[in-house]
Amino acid sequence: QALEQGLEKTSTGFFSKIGRAVVGKSKVDEEVLDELEEILLTSDVGVATTLKIIQRIEQRIERDKYVSTEELDIVLREEVAALLEENQSSSLENAFAEPKQKPYVIMVVGVNGVGKTTTIGKLASQFHQNGCKVVLGAADTFRAAAVDQLKLWGERVGIPVIDHGMNTDPAAVAYDAVKQAVEMNADIVIIDTAGRLHTKVNLMTELGKIKRVIQKFIPEAPHEVMLVLDGSTGQNAFIQAQEFTKVTEITSLAITKLDGTAKGGVVIGISDQFKIPVKYIGVGEKISDLQVFNKTTFVDSLFA
Ligand code: GDP
Repeated sequence: QALEQGLEKTSTGFFSKIGRAVVGKSKVDEEVLDELEEILLTSDVGVATTLKIIQRIEQRIERDKYVSTEELDIVLREEVAALLEENQSSSLENAFAEPKQKPYVIMVVGVNGVGKTTTIGKLASQFHQNGCKVVLGAADTFRAAAVDQLKLWGERVGIPVIDHGMNTDPAAVAYDAVKQAVEMNADIVIIDTAGRLHTKVNLMTELGKIKRVIQKFIPEAPHEVMLVLDGSTGQNAFIQAQEFTKVTEITSLAITKLDGTAKGGVVIGISDQFKIPVKYIGVGEKISDLQVFNKTTFVDSLFA
C-alpha cells in the first residue's frame, strides 16, 4: 500500500502517457513504439535499457504478428519484470533480519543530499526494531552537520553512535565503531562515509583506508558497500553509480525519494545497467518508508 502510494507519480505517469499514445489505435505499430520509447526515457529508464525493452517488444510483435494496444501495458509489465528478474536474482526478503555474520559491517557511500544519513537512520531503526544490536559510525567527518544528524538518529532510536567530531580521521571513527561492536557483541555496524566525488582520488584513498582498518578486526569486512542514490535526480543517479563503481566496489544500492518523482523508471535502468542488487528503496520520510526492494511488488506497484 505504502509502496503503491510512493510510486504513484511514476505509475500514473506511465499509464496516462501510454493511454494518450495509443488513443485511436488498435495495434502496436512503429509509431506507438516511438511514443513508448519517449515515455520510458522521460521516466528515466535510461537510453540503453529503454532500447532493450523496445527491442524485446518488437521481437514479440514479430513472433506474435500482432500486439493490440490494449495489451501494451501487460507486455511492458512482463518485459520490465523479466529485466528485473535477470538482474535482481538474489532473494532479499529478509534484508532487515539478523545477519549471519556478526558483526555484519555495512559501509555506506553516496554524495551529499541523496538521503544517505536518513537512509542510515531508517536502516538502523528497522534493524533495531527487529531485535538487532546496532552500532553507527559517523565517519562522514567532512560535511557540516553529518555527524550531528547521525547522533540525533542514534539518540532517537537508542543506539550508540561512534564519533570523533568534524574534520577528524574517518578511518579512526570506523576503527572505533567496529571495535565497539565487537566488544558489545553487536549484530550490525553501519558506517557513514563522506561523499566527495569531485575529489575522486581522495575519496578512493579514504574509502580504502576505512576498509583496511575494519579488516584488522574482521578480515572479510565490510560485508556490504551500499551506494545511496536519489531516484528523483534521474540521469545524475546513473552518473553517480558510474563514478562510484570506479572508486570502490559497490555491492548493494539504496534508491531514495521515489515518492517525489515520476522518474521511478530509474530503478529499472540502474538495475539493468549496473547489475548491482537494489536492496532498499525510499518512498517517503517515515522510517517504514525505507523498504526492502522486492521486484514483484515493485512491478505490481508500478503497474497498479
Ligand atoms: P545526505 O546529505 O545524503 O545525508 O541526505 P539526508 O539524509 O540529509 O537527506 C536529505 C533530505 O532528503 C532530507 O530532507 C530527507 O528527509 C529527505 N529524504 C531522504 N530519503 C527520502 C525519501 O525516500 N523520500 C523523501 N520524500 N524524502 C527523503
